[in-house]
Amino acid sequence: MKYYIMFGPPGAGKGTHAAAVREKYNLCHLSTGELLRAEIAKGSELGLHAKSLIDKGSLVPDSVVEGMIENQFNEVKGVAGFLLDGFPRTLGQARDLDAILAKRGEEVTAVISLMISDETVKQRIAHRAAIEGRADDASEETINNRIKTYHTQTEPLIEYYKAQGKYHEVQAEEPTIEQNRAKVLALMETIEK
Ligand code: ADP
Repeated sequence: MKYYIMFGPPGAGKGTHAAAVREKYNLCHLSTGELLRAEIAKGSELGLHAKSLIDKGSLVPDSVVEGMIENQFNEVKGVAGFLLDGFPRTLGQARDLDAILAKRGEEVTAVISLMISDETVKQRIAHRAAIEGRADDASEETINNRIKTYHTQTEPLIEYYKAQGKYHEVQAEEPTIEQNRAKVLALMETIEK
């Protein structure tokens, strides 16, 4: 099985490009943000707890997202692999993912990192807020906190995966989605070879 990680700051286009990659390579797209929003919509206890953290721009506990991911690994059948979007987001999650996969005799295949500047993050999220209506996209304070959370907790994963020789980066600042998607798909072709 293939285990790809779609990496990058909020608003980099992880979910958008994951859709195209999933289709082309028969992967199951797992977005921890979407799984958490589904729990919030259900009104589950997990969802209620997660919402208060998400609305502040903080991360939910590692154990929560790891449990959701492992459930999906166990349940989903008939795919060539998984495309993880928004997970892992901390060094603890990255190490735990390695352990979860090792138990299955598997490992991370490659990390596809979408890089954009903090300025672009702010512009993209402001634009998305108007379209998708996500509560955590609407407040400037929350967005700034998510950018800070990305730099302090998530960015260190770049070195972690570089050390494993699995890190691949594209500059995702082209003016159109199509141009950025073409870069992502071109990178995928070189990895899948
Ligand atoms: P974005 O693409 O804007 O980063 P996501 O949908 O991936 O948005 O995530 C929304 C929020 O859900 C995050 O800001 C965080 O609070 C929570 N979240 C998502 N994935 C994780 C994760 N792997 N670990 C902890 N919290 C997460």
